[in-house]
Amino acid sequence: MREADQGAVRVRELSHFIDGQRAVGASGQFVDVYDPAPGRVTAHVPVANAAEVAAAVAAAKAAFPAWSETSPLTRARLIFKFKELLEAHSDELAELITRDHGKLFSDAKGEVMRGIEIVEFACGIPNLLKTEFTDQISGGMDAWNLRQPLGVAAGVTPFNFPMVVPCWMFVMAAATGNTFILKPSERTPSASIRLAELFIEAGFPKGVFNVVHGSKAVVDALIQHPDVVAMSVVASTPVAEYIYSESAKRGKRVQALGSAKNHLVVMPDANMDQAVDALINSAYGSAGERCMATSVAVAVGPTGDELIERLAPRVRSLRMGNGMEEPGLDMGPLISAAHRAKVLDYIDAGIAAGAKLVVDGRGQTVPGHEEGFFLGGSLFDDVKSDMSIYREEIFGPVLSVVRVPDLASAIALVNAHELGNCVSLFTFDGAAARAFSRQIQVGMVGINVPSPVPSAWHSFGGWKRSLFGDHHAYGEEAVRFYTHYKSVMQRWPDSIT
Ligand code: NAD
Repeated sequence: MREADQGAVRVRELSHFIDGQRAVGASGQFVDVYDPAPGRVTAHVPVANAAEVAAAVAAAKAAFPAWSETSPLTRARLIFKFKELLEAHSDELAELITRDHGKLFSDAKGEVMRGIEIVEFACGIPNLLKTEFTDQISGGMDAWNLRQPLGVAAGVTPFNFPMVVPCWMFVMAAATGNTFILKPSERTPSASIRLAELFIEAGFPKGVFNVVHGSKAVVDALIQHPDVVAMSVVASTPVAEYIYSESAKRGKRVQALGSAKNHLVVMPDANMDQAVDALINSAYGSAGERCMATSVAVAVGPTGDELIERLAPRVRSLRMGNGMEEPGLDMGPLISAAHRAKVLDYIDAGIAAGAKLVVDGRGQTVPGHEEGFFLGGSLFDDVKSDMSIYREEIFGPVLSVVRVPDLASAIALVNAHELGNCVSLFTFDGAAARAFSRQIQVGMVGINVPSPVPSAWHSFGGWKRSLFGDHHAYGEEAVRFYTHYKSVMQRWPDSIT
């Protein structure tokens, strides 16, 4: 990583990672990367040109024949080594994440641990690739299945999880015998380069994992490249839908996870202490910039007044600051000044539509970080389902309370929303919880669990316009996504009598 002086501040010059090494950007085009806490540029990330994208695809294509023939056990041993390196470098990776993104260092460490869990799951690849076999399916004939890698796969990732979302993709793609090109978010690109270096240090062959930076034009070049046979995407819904349709019409296999509007339903019999803690952590942690963040609290029956009464002082006392200067903080800044302006527009729209702004986070600053992209927590009551603050993903520290008379109305409300990433129910009624989990049209459900992120041994994905494609991310779904299923029937003339 080269570093240049920009006044008193050191600005890092980032690179692509192609064919086992860093590749300095050749296009002459760069995007500024900010540290959102001080609100200043800390790095320049190059934008790949067509030749650089082509070079990354060529490196991945060249690495594929040998890598796909490498035994799953050998692959697993390299993945073990990679896991050890990630553990040894976890603080360094977490710092890169916090400095690009703004989330608290402890939160970034949690992300690194989640990434390592994916790697731990991938260590079991010899077992995960085992398939079915039927002896003597008919006279003298046996039948079995193979799971074979696809070829060169690519991934497009969002700004908010610079390590774990790439790990969902390249770790599982490589474990199953594919080679991979990552196009990380241009706003949080630093961790991806370090991951690629550690991957090589673990002993993976060059070309198995490549990183190219940029935005739409680079994604389009990957979609249009005939040698890229699969696309994994995590993005906002319009981008996920665009990449899904453009890739699918070119015959590529594609999974595209999109936006979220997650509800947490509070029943009258819920443990209110737990429900309020869950709402505070899930709505305001990481400044609401999580696809599993709760952005709507659904108050069933008489719970609305008590919820507001208990939430309001907690939201008012949220502590913001530079994520590298923990402890004692609840959240960091938003990713950019433009994103903060968008969240502020939503707050204005909520007020104009008649929602009651109980806690107003606007105008709060952090001493010493006046240029940072901070926004305090806001809380709305009396939100209705036709308001934009309810319908659209805000992706900021804003929680809306919607009041409904009963559980059936809560289920109908959630099911009518066009997004369906995750949902939670807080209750002590087992029958209500069972009915809720079965009837709700959402991909990930928590019962007395906020933000129910499946562990690496399960799979992650929403329903409706929160996911385009047939496969969820990581877990056994990733093994299915990154492999072709083949059925073999075999008969040998019987020479032993
Ligand atoms: P984004 O859609 O702006 O960008 C995501 C990626 O797509 C980036 O790499 C970006 O460079 C690329 N991109 C942007 N515009 C593009 C275009 N027109 N064509 C092709 N590629 C384009 O999203 P973001 O702001 O980086 O991330 C936040 C969004 O991601 C939120 O909507 C959030 O809900 C979603 N997200 C979803 C999940 C999930 O699992 N469902 C997880 C994390 C984030």
